[in-house]
Amino acid sequence: MLVPVEYDEVGNILDGHHRVKICRELGIDWPRLIREGFTEEEKWTHARQLNIARRHLNQEQKRALIADQLRQTPHFSDRRIAEMLGVSDKTVGSVRNELVANAEIPQTQTVTRSDGVVTTKQQVDERRRQRKGAVRLYAGQRYDRIGEEDYQRKDGRWTKLDVYRSHCPECGKPFEIRASRDRNAFHPARRCDEHKAQGRRIRCATIE
Ligand SMILES: [Zn+2]
Repeated sequence: MLVPVEYDEVGNILDGHHRVKICRELGIDWPRLIREGFTEEEKWTHARQLNIARRHLNQEQKRALIADQLRQTPHFSDRRIAEMLGVSDKTVGSVRNELVANAEIPQTQTVTRSDGVVTTKQQVDERRRQRKGAVRLYAGQRYDRIGEEDYQRKDGRWTKLDVYRSHCPECGKPFEIRASRDRNAFHPARRCDEHKAQGRRIRCATIE
């Protein structure tokens, strides 16, 4: 008996890419489960939860999934990520230390805001970076601005594109996208080149 392949309401596979591939190769149909009402961030978290709950994942693979979550939401506390993924906060802390040591995510420092709320320096920096456009979120996925590039528009005029780096939610590898500065036209690719053909076609940044 096959475990059902999980889809969102518009037909994106949330869990079971590998099963679908095998069934297609064998020419057989597969059971489906449709999940509704998840935000994009919840979809990725759900997929990670399912992956972590599987027994065949070794410690290294679990840590890779925790690392993906930390890269996506570095400003969330260890405890919050541990609860989201159903792992111990000690493990999350240990993965975080590795990522901080590799400079993949910033170090956590506690600060007290002017209104007396104790938060992390990361959380404060994150908000500042988002306000400045240095970090953009699209459908719960994080894009860090790493530079800019000249771009000639259809009418011949030159403009600048912002270059952003994100991490593929499927494999964790970094990839880059180019986006116009029109905030309303930010529809970046969500996965790396290798994985972007899977599921629904991904819309790219539109340039007027
Ligand atoms: Zn990928």
